[in-house]
Amino acid sequence: MKIVDVTVTKFTHKSRKHQDSHGHSHPGPEKDAVQALLTVRTDEGHEGYAFQNPDALRPAIVDKYLRPVAIGEDGFARERIWQNLERRQRGSGGHFADRTLGALDQALWDLAGRALGVPVYKLLGAYRDKIPAYGSIMCGDQLEGGLATPDDYGRFAKTLVARGYKAIKLHTWFPPIPGAPDPRRDVEACAAVRDAVGPDIALMLDGYHWYSRTDALFIGRELEKLNFLWIEEPMDEASPSAYAWLSRNLDIPVLGPESAPGKYRTRAEWVRAEASDILRAGVLNSAGLSPLMKSAHLAEAHGMNCEIHGNGAANLAACLAIPNCDWYERGLLHPFLDYDAVPEYLNSPTDPMDSDGYVHGSQRPGLGEDINFDYIAAHKVA
Ligand code: MG
Repeated sequence: MKIVDVTVTKFTHKSRKHQDSHGHSHPGPEKDAVQALLTVRTDEGHEGYAFQNPDALRPAIVDKYLRPVAIGEDGFARERIWQNLERRQRGSGGHFADRTLGALDQALWDLAGRALGVPVYKLLGAYRDKIPAYGSIMCGDQLEGGLATPDDYGRFAKTLVARGYKAIKLHTWFPPIPGAPDPRRDVEACAAVRDAVGPDIALMLDGYHWYSRTDALFIGRELEKLNFLWIEEPMDEASPSAYAWLSRNLDIPVLGPESAPGKYRTRAEWVRAEASDILRAGVLNSAGLSPLMKSAHLAEAHGMNCEIHGNGAANLAACLAIPNCDWYERGLLHPFLDYDAVPEYLNSPTDPMDSDGYVHGSQRPGLGEDINFDYIAAHKVA
């Protein structure tokens, strides 16, 4: 099954997500957003797909890196293609990003599943067919009735429990929200949510990522009193030493690294340094599903969970394939957004959740994305 083409289709769709000056999403008026679909085509007529931010799939980058290495290769040779491409990252001056490499790896997994007629999570080994989700709440804002106060978080958490979620993760307030970051306000939001949902719902905090050690320690100790499940990325991840210090000083599990570069090699260093209690990896920050699985197995070998970062078909496949992940991250969620609404470019949801809070693996061949190709063709942009 020889790869004969790698192409990118850019298209518009309706979105109500707007980024603030620091890059965090909040709800707003409906607008046209642009999405990109990477397609890998083979001589046998099989295709594999991956959605990605158009910035990561700019024509110059796809033409310079992905196409020369992938075209002519065996479509099943994911590891060889990935290794050859990763070496091209060194001289790219940062232009050939992990997200670009990851999109190709994801499309190759989708291709393999579609060509063989098997869901990818089963190709990976299928530890289970469903997994509980945590509702991952969007960052705080200043919207009336949105996520402007600790009480807003508490109120929204109740609606998530009514929807079926058995776990909830907060992202609290970040700059440019006035007064943010504020460790005490973060703890107030966490306390409001615990108060609203009672003792039986699992809770996690993913707060400001650049707190000092002492601020992170303060928040962690308060979360211990509130019986939170983990504290996520409270400091800059460039310092595993700071994380090792925090992990030693807290009883609550510390989770990371999420955004540190270096793929599974960085995760190995964090395990050695005992910098976190729970490892973290996701397709976006791992350069694909293949390297993500290496981090997950690395964690398993050291008796650690590897909680998968982010939503979407490839992250869900990883969650279903490994034993050492307890939750799927579903979101980001906000009182003003309907996460269960299917995007226009899909025919059915990628991560449907039942009323008990379980997300089920799709039995469709490939990664399970039910792509609306007619919609994409009709909304193509140059
Ligand atoms: Mg996070």
